[in-house]
Amino acid sequence: MTALRPSTHDVAVAGGSLGGLFAAALLHRNGHRVDVFEESARGLRTRGAGLVAQNEIFTALAAAGLSDSAVPGVTSTERITLDRAGGVQYRQQATQTQLSWDRLYDALRSAVPDDRYHLGAAVDDVRLDGDRVRFRTAQGDHDAGLLIGADGAQSRVRRAVAPEHADNRYVGYAIWRGLIPESVVTADVAAVLFGRMAFYTGPGEHALGYLIPGPDGETAPGSRRYNWVWYRRLDSDALSTLMQAAGRSSDSTSLGPGQTPPDAAASLVEQALDQLPPAFAAVVGLESRPFLQGVLDYVAPRLTRGHALLLGDAAAVVRPHTAMGAAKAAGDALDLAALLQDFSIEDSLRAYNSARLPIARDIARYGVALGDALPLR
Ligand SMILES: Cc1cc2nc3c(=O)[nH]c(=O)nc-3n(C[C@H](O)[C@H](O)[C@H](O)COP(=O)(O)OP(=O)(O)OC[C@H]3O[C@@H](n4cnc5c(N)ncnc54)[C@H](O)[C@@H]3O)c2cc1C
Repeated sequence: MTALRPSTHDVAVAGGSLGGLFAAALLHRNGHRVDVFEESARGLRTRGAGLVAQNEIFTALAAAGLSDSAVPGVTSTERITLDRAGGVQYRQQATQTQLSWDRLYDALRSAVPDDRYHLGAAVDDVRLDGDRVRFRTAQGDHDAGLLIGADGAQSRVRRAVAPEHADNRYVGYAIWRGLIPESVVTADVAAVLFGRMAFYTGPGEHALGYLIPGPDGETAPGSRRYNWVWYRRLDSDALSTLMQAAGRSSDSTSLGPGQTPPDAAASLVEQALDQLPPAFAAVVGLESRPFLQGVLDYVAPRLTRGHALLLGDAAAVVRPHTAMGAAKAAGDALDLAALLQDFSIEDSLRAYNSARLPIARDIARYGVALGDALPLR
């Protein structure tokens, strides 16, 4: 691999969520001409919940010229495991910081010029054509010197880069999530859950929760939000039935806030009372718009082809138990940006594949091991 004088490229990014924004913010700062094409017409701000802070996220924010204070966190000082009756089974001192997805999104979004972030622009019909990549969006035909597929678990860029193995595997359980203002949580429930990461594991169930900042990054007590996560066994037939009831295609695997049919949301609250410790059942009952994410396994056999590459969840969907999906996307973007500073696109892509594929495989394996250790299947 020969180092070159730094040069700049015209880069297209498919997907304007965290992975696409990490890449776009870093490459824009390094002087590349970057356009982000995001399928959603309305923007993504309301879709996220909580994230566990990892070093790569702050390294990438700094490299994009953003300070840590742009993404405030809430720190918890211990981990507890509850039993079904609500007693503390296990307690361990552990300091950890939790971030809010929306605040991280806003910070990264502010690092990409508005006229370079295109909403309602699903990337389709990707064709690798020598040193160019051609594709189509609702805005017309485009081509770029580099296409970054940051279009998530249902990536279409993946179908051009790794057509030999582009499909996710649903693993047989799903996560319900909720995000509620801390002010609606009663004092007795807050006394159990706040200030710590709380967990519960029972047959077919695994729940956890923690505080994150408020919608505008507020961290003062009274203005934060409580993020709960409830993994549940859900076979693929039951998942398809739920998707169809929600008016989605039977092969969809997620429902955003407000998309869960009211009877399914009501039944979730009833089952929480039946299956979870009282404090977790209480916070589940306070969320009127729970959202669902089917848990998927996928690692691409390759991350690059022609002048296109995969990054973030498009490259590998790691199980949420790892809490490393966003950090992996940040790491992908950091390595890519560093390589493009010194090397040609071809050499950078080769090195990116060699560096990031083993990392994706390791994190994915770790996630499978964490999932297999839970009674979810
Ligand atoms: C609610 C929630 C909580 C999470 N919690 C954590 C956590 O605690 N820790 C953690 O590390 N990770 C967490 N994750 C996962 C993490 O956010 C992702 O793994 C990480 O952000 C990588 O995302 P991504 O940008 O690669 O993919 P995604 O966030 O899935 O984004 C893909 C984007 O591409 C767009 N898109 C899809 N198809 C196209 C197309 N053809 N053209 C253009 N755009 C397209 C989609 O609309 C979407 O905006 C969480 C995810 C969710 C949803």
